[in-house]
Amino acid sequence: MIHRFCERFTPDQNVEECLRSSFEEVVRLRQSDLSDRLVEIDAEAATKDLLPLAMNYLRSDLFSRVERARSAVTNQEVHPTGEPGLWSELSFRIRRRLGVLSGAIDKLLVTKTNDKYEVEIIDFKTNRLALQSQASSVTSPQGNTRSSQYAFDFDSEPKQPNNALAIAAHDYQLQMQAYALAIRELVPSFKDSTIRVTLHFLEPNLEFHLADDLLAPPTCEAAIDSAMDDILRSSQPQDFPVNPATHCRTCSFLKVCAAGREFVQSVS
Ligand code: SF4
Repeated sequence: MIHRFCERFTPDQNVEECLRSSFEEVVRLRQSDLSDRLVEIDAEAATKDLLPLAMNYLRSDLFSRVERARSAVTNQEVHPTGEPGLWSELSFRIRRRLGVLSGAIDKLLVTKTNDKYEVEIIDFKTNRLALQSQASSVTSPQGNTRSSQYAFDFDSEPKQPNNALAIAAHDYQLQMQAYALAIRELVPSFKDSTIRVTLHFLEPNLEFHLADDLLAPPTCEAAIDSAMDDILRSSQPQDFPVNPATHCRTCSFLKVCAAGREFVQSVS
């Protein structure tokens, strides 16, 4: 719902109405998945719950960047062809040696300065992280007062092992590398552009940027091929050890995973 809201909202709309229509659209599209849970869903309660996340997005620097890009675009192709623009829910498929990788990028923002393209890949995350103490101790490099921004080098271990934010962000490294590789491969004119990856955690309102060296094409290719190789070699339950962490809260397998349920109970 919140993804759909971030995709659709424009400043001429009413925030709550846009949230409600995003909710109705998502429920309509996922009716068969939700089946017997449909009766439990309360549209008003969901809208109320998600309003703070929507407001976080609207107060963020990211929203300002998105709106600047939107107003600069006059005539845009359905798919990026090498021009500045703003795209949402951009699906892709890339072929690798061991298989085909498919995905969808939440937002792609392309600007051009002094004949150079700058490509920003944006992914929204709704993980609810309890970060009060860490967040308050971090200073935004841009001096941004509305949302803090971090850059992580995921090759090194998070400096504070209990840092839920670093751990949560670490889960998305491979996904972001896949997006960066897809953009370079599918839009040849962006091949040598600066690519920036932004993970926008809506609660709390924080941005993360992957370190540039993690987005270099050979690094992305090696990470994806290695993951595909691991998947192909793994066929037994012992090849898939449980990994209880904050991500269990949103895992689709929580109902059938004893280790995940234990973890969630222990921290709640
Ligand atoms: S609930 Fe289980 S399967 Fe899901 S992320 Fe947690 S440990 Fe892994």
